[in-house]
Amino acid sequence: MFGAIAGDVIGSYFEGFPTKRTDFTMFQPGTRFTDDTVLTVAVADCMLNGLDYAKTFREYAHKYPQAGYGGMFRRWANSESLEPYNSFGNGSAMRVSPVAFAIDNYDCMMKEAKRSAAVTHNHPEGIKGAQAIASAIYWARTGQGKNYIKEQTQARFEYDLSPTLDQIRPDYDFDATCPGTVPQAIIAFLESDDYEDCIRKAISLGGDSDTIACMAGSIAEAYYRFIPEYIVAKVRTCLDPDLLRIIDQFNTRFILNPELEKCLTGPYSPGSPAPAFPGPLICPVSCGIM
Ligand SMILES: [Mg+2]
Repeated sequence: MFGAIAGDVIGSYFEGFPTKRTDFTMFQPGTRFTDDTVLTVAVADCMLNGLDYAKTFREYAHKYPQAGYGGMFRRWANSESLEPYNSFGNGSAMRVSPVAFAIDNYDCMMKEAKRSAAVTHNHPEGIKGAQAIASAIYWARTGQGKNYIKEQTQARFEYDLSPTLDQIRPDYDFDATCPGTVPQAIIAFLESDDYEDCIRKAISLGGDSDTIACMAGSIAEAYYRFIPEYIVAKVRTCLDPDLLRIIDQFNTRFILNPELEKCLTGPYSPGSPAPAFPGPLICPVSCGIM
């Protein structure tokens, strides 16, 4: 899930100043973490500690009130009711990556992706977007190739992944819906050569750059299993200790990625190491499948 967070942090500047180029300076002044990071970490916290999604999202939103949430989410987080609001915004898909890294059974993972989405984004397209990103991550981290990921995504989720980035880019504009960003993020991943290239291509579409880079980056992390150390180190300096603590606990427990773990010995060192678990990839809730 660090790949999602790095995508959000790098993309944060370009949401306000979109670019159609790939050769931009990655860390612009004012680069910061946004709602995508906050809610991804909230999902990771839920996976680690068996927390309730709705309550946890609300707590994180109150703790980080300036992270740039969408209006509907902000109203929901500040309301008395925790009823979902039928959104098909891309918030469900940008926060889902920890689910796909943590659960090893595909059907269980799909069910949990839906649960994580549906507390706010209970519109079918909101759930579908989360499940499509989660599936791509799952297939990537379990060794499937890009052709498989493309074909399965098209078959199961009915997204058209045939346009190239060069075809999409000229007319692409800001869009914060799942149908308007999830297929584009997956295409950016499919066309990428490595993690950094994926982030650059995702941002070069212009539009909701932090979220597209977050979603594409989460798949790229699972597929390439390597995030350049200078990116990890710089992104860590943009995060606060509480976010880093959950990220490090999650990575220690769930992500089997020796190369990435090497990179994760950045400026922050957790007070106490997370407990060793026999393996990652458990079902955090009783979903009836595992
Ligand atoms: Mg954002």
